[in-house]
This record gives sequence, structure tokens and C-alpha cells, in this order.
Amino acid sequence: MGTIWADTDGLHDDLETASGLEAWMEAVGVDEGTASATSNELAEARALRDSLRLLAAIQTEDTRPTAVSHMTDASRAVDVLNTAARRLPIPQLQIQNNAFRRTSTATSAVPAALAGIATEAVNLFGGPDADRLRACQAPGCVLYFVKTHHRREWCSIACGNRARAARHYQRIRQTTPQE
Ligand SMILES: [Zn+2]
Repeated sequence: MGTIWADTDGLHDDLETASGLEAWMEAVGVDEGTASATSNELAEARALRDSLRLLAAIQTEDTRPTAVSHMTDASRAVDVLNTAARRLPIPQLQIQNNAFRRTSTATSAVPAALAGIATEAVNLFGGPDADRLRACQAPGCVLYFVKTHHRREWCSIACGNRARAARHYQRIRQTTPQE
């Protein structure tokens, strides 16, 4: 979900190109050596990401303008998520040269990585953490986070600092007499 993010330059999308998807896979620790992504896989990754953002927006009753997703149909988003999750590699035992060998049903690194994300998402949205999912309300932020601590209000320390600075600025403006 964090592949759409914002800074002072505006919105960024890490999944605009296949090489962006490869960089993301490397960043999340998928190092299969063969992590080259096709345009189909890029489309799958984007559909999964947009689905997760829609489900998060619904779960958190997100009203931020940035919560608008390319995906608008919740049941379609759930379908995309479940389809991706079903492609989780399943370990298989084989006999090769009179020895046991562990193999996997995964055919490519990208669907396997997406299946891992989808499985995490099934556990998040369908599990006890769903009620702790929050939309970060810091100015301009587009991210979601799980409220891991009762005092946690922001997705990151940086967002907390920016939100406090914005509040401070508001207070000064309100208490300074207008000329
Ligand atoms: Zn934030």
C-alpha cells in the first residue's frame, strides 16, 4: 500500500514501470536473482495495490481526497486479493537422483511476492488488527498504518513532526491579530 506516497513534490507512485516493481521487490527482500517483471505482472501488482488501498479506505472510513483509488468496487477488490493469495507457493517434495528435494509450486518471483502480500492482507483485514488500521491524517500523507500503541497517531515520526508543526502554525495564525 505504501507504493503510493507523498512528499512536498506531491504524489509518487513506485509502481509506474516494471523496473519500479523490480526495485520494490528488491526493497521488500525478494531476491530470487530472476526478479524481472513483465508488463502483465506490473498490471497485477498495481491491481493488488489499488485493491488493498480501497479496502483500507473502507476499513478506516478514510475521507482524505487521496484515498480515491483506481479501484472502486469492494467485491472486485476482494476478488483481486483472493486470486493473488491463491498463488502463494506451496512447498512440494520431489525425488531427484534418489534423494528428496524440496521444491515449490511458484513459477515466477513476482506472483510469489504478490501472493505473500495478499496473504498478509487477508490476515490484516480479516483479523484482529483490522480495527487498529488507521489512515495517517498528517498534512498531505496518503499512507495507512496499524496503531501498534494506544498513543500512536501517525504513520511515522516524520509525519508526527509535520502534524505538530502544522498545528503550531495554525495556533500562531489564530492568535496573531490581523492587520
Ligand atoms: Zn503519515
